[in-house]
Amino acid sequence: MTLSRRRIAIVGAGLSGLSCAGSLCLGGAEVQLFDKSRGPGGRMSTRRVETPLGTVSFDHGAQYFTARGDGFRAEVARWAAEGLAAPWPAAGPEAWVGIPSMNTPVKALAEGQSIAWSTAVEALSRDGDAWRLKTPEGLSRPFDSVVLALPAEQAAALLSGWDADLAARAAASRTAPCWTVMAAFGERLPIATDTLGEDGVLGWAARNSAKPGRGEPEAWVLQASPDWSRHHLEDPAEAVGQALLAAFAGRIGAPLPEPMVLQAHRWRYARSSAGSDLALWSGAAQLGCCGDWLAGPRIECAWDSGQALAQLMTGKARE
Ligand SMILES: Cc1cc2nc3c(=O)[nH]c(=O)nc-3n(C[C@H](O)[C@H](O)[C@H](O)COP(=O)(O)OP(=O)(O)OC[C@H]3O[C@@H](n4cnc5c(N)ncnc54)[C@H](O)[C@@H]3O)c2cc1C
Repeated sequence: MTLSRRRIAIVGAGLSGLSCAGSLCLGGAEVQLFDKSRGPGGRMSTRRVETPLGTVSFDHGAQYFTARGDGFRAEVARWAAEGLAAPWPAAGPEAWVGIPSMNTPVKALAEGQSIAWSTAVEALSRDGDAWRLKTPEGLSRPFDSVVLALPAEQAAALLSGWDADLAARAAASRTAPCWTVMAAFGERLPIATDTLGEDGVLGWAARNSAKPGRGEPEAWVLQASPDWSRHHLEDPAEAVGQALLAAFAGRIGAPLPEPMVLQAHRWRYARSSAGSDLALWSGAAQLGCCGDWLAGPRIECAWDSGQALAQLMTGKARE
């Protein structure tokens, strides 16, 4: 079979799924993506909240990215040339962010792709030689191949019963949780720096409104440390909001004004552990996996993983 006749379903339209989709489409495949969210971003999402002072946005997932390998460096250079990303020196000399929000580059990659949003894939099923995906709307049309571009734990749930090796690899990988609090204030906080590193309860804090292209009311993203997040995983969001706000006030050594916005988001699967393969592909099952759990816990690794899987699939298709 040539790649140009291949019907490929990709579950997960985060960066790894879209990176893979772009390359498969260039190879002539007919790609359909499915994502349970309402729009693009995955763990590079941005939340917008209306306030009396205007709209405030929070990059409540990934905070910034670096580009160290040649492939991703070239991709980020394209994003920069198109005005989708810019350096953010406050997070380090190599740090980049999407502009005007972290999900901008992912949105751009999603343009032109066929994506079923708000569509959770609940299970995979076989229909002769074809795959069909079970969604709340029923069974999908048939596909020749399926790609799972999901955190390891979510991939493992779909792989179970279909490919023992892939399922075992996914089941062995752990993704650390992260409670994230979004807080906006009516005035600028008297903090000299725009980022604060790990210190006990707080894993990271950043003045989101100071990132390039934002220019919005004072907005902070507060991330709990992995240990704190694990121990408080089932706490109510309101309690987490108050706890991280108190930790933030303690860290800066001054009381905080009443926030205009205080929301907490639980990332049950936030940071993957370092992987040993860039991507996994079973030609026999026509089933593959990409994502940061395979290549490493960073945005660049997710993009690399999607590229690597497309190459593996293209290689198999040419056999
Ligand atoms: C709080 C936090 C902070 C981070 N900070 C940084 C950082 O500073 N720098 C950095 O480089 N990286 C950071 N990361 C990691 C980075 O965001 C990820 O490595 C990268 O975005 C992973 O991309 P992905 O495509 O592999 O997965 P995701 O972005 O998670 O994409 C998976 C997609 O699958 C969808 N999905 C899941 N299950 C289903 C299903 N059953 N059916 C349909 N769709 C489904 C999800 O909605 C999602 O859109 C951070 C992550 C988090 C959460």
